[in-house]
Amino acid sequence: SATLYVVATPIGNLADLTERARQVLSAVNLIACEDTRHTQRLLQHLGLRKPMLSVHDHNERDRIQQVMDHLDQGRDIALVSDAGTPLISDPGYPLVQALRQAGHKVVPIPGASAMITALSAAGLPTDRFTFEGFLPHKSSGRKERLRAIVQDTCTLVFYEAKHRILNTLEDMSDVLGDQREAVVARELTKTFESFYRGTLMEIHAQLSSHDDHQKGEFVVMVTGNPAPAPASEIDTERLFKLLLAELP
Ligand code: SAM
Repeated sequence: SATLYVVATPIGNLADLTERARQVLSAVNLIACEDTRHTQRLLQHLGLRKPMLSVHDHNERDRIQQVMDHLDQGRDIALVSDAGTPLISDPGYPLVQALRQAGHKVVPIPGASAMITALSAAGLPTDRFTFEGFLPHKSSGRKERLRAIVQDTCTLVFYEAKHRILNTLEDMSDVLGDQREAVVARELTKTFESFYRGTLMEIHAQLSSHDDHQKGEFVVMVTGNPAPAPASEIDTERLFKLLLAELP
């Protein structure tokens, strides 16, 4: 049977499309994409005309059978998202999982991802990091998620949209501590690429200083907890509670 290629596309600068991605996109019979209009622009840039099939979060499960049928009929397919690597805060996981389970061939074509691009130039520790993707949209849910990782000692990486960036930085200051060091990367690989560094409080102030700093796409990277509560302290507290419960 045929192959599903999972193809990374640029996150802004079209020159970042790899040679192999170009070859695969021009060779496949069909392109499964998130948004056909968006992918149409990329294909136009490459001088390609290809049939497209939209696969997004809301129809992904219905599309799986269709994709399998195409593969069984010997048609190679490329899966792309609007930007960067598919499945990374983007559609594709149910499809790839189902194809793997059914024994189909799935081949990755690597390229840009905003998370790795941001980490590679931020100047924060990269030996261990936690990718959290998008936090919940509502402040209560966001804080709850942040509380769950407040002790984490590795670098924390988040994606955020422009209309939530300031609120998210505020919640991060509240929960992770306003003196936590962080780096925010904005508009990576694009004309207005910028890096903001400092404590969460300082970065919030920098971004608040002018509307222009709140435009575009953001990756927020926060240093891990420099002094997590030692396990022994937590255990003592737990033990104390257990003993207390036993007392008459
Ligand atoms: N699949 C993509 C990847 O591999 O990075 C991510 C898709 S996700 C729907 C979009 C989010 O990624 C944006 O809201 C932003 O947080 C981040 N992002 C994508 N492109 C970016 C860029 N050029 N600069 C900064 N962040 C970017």
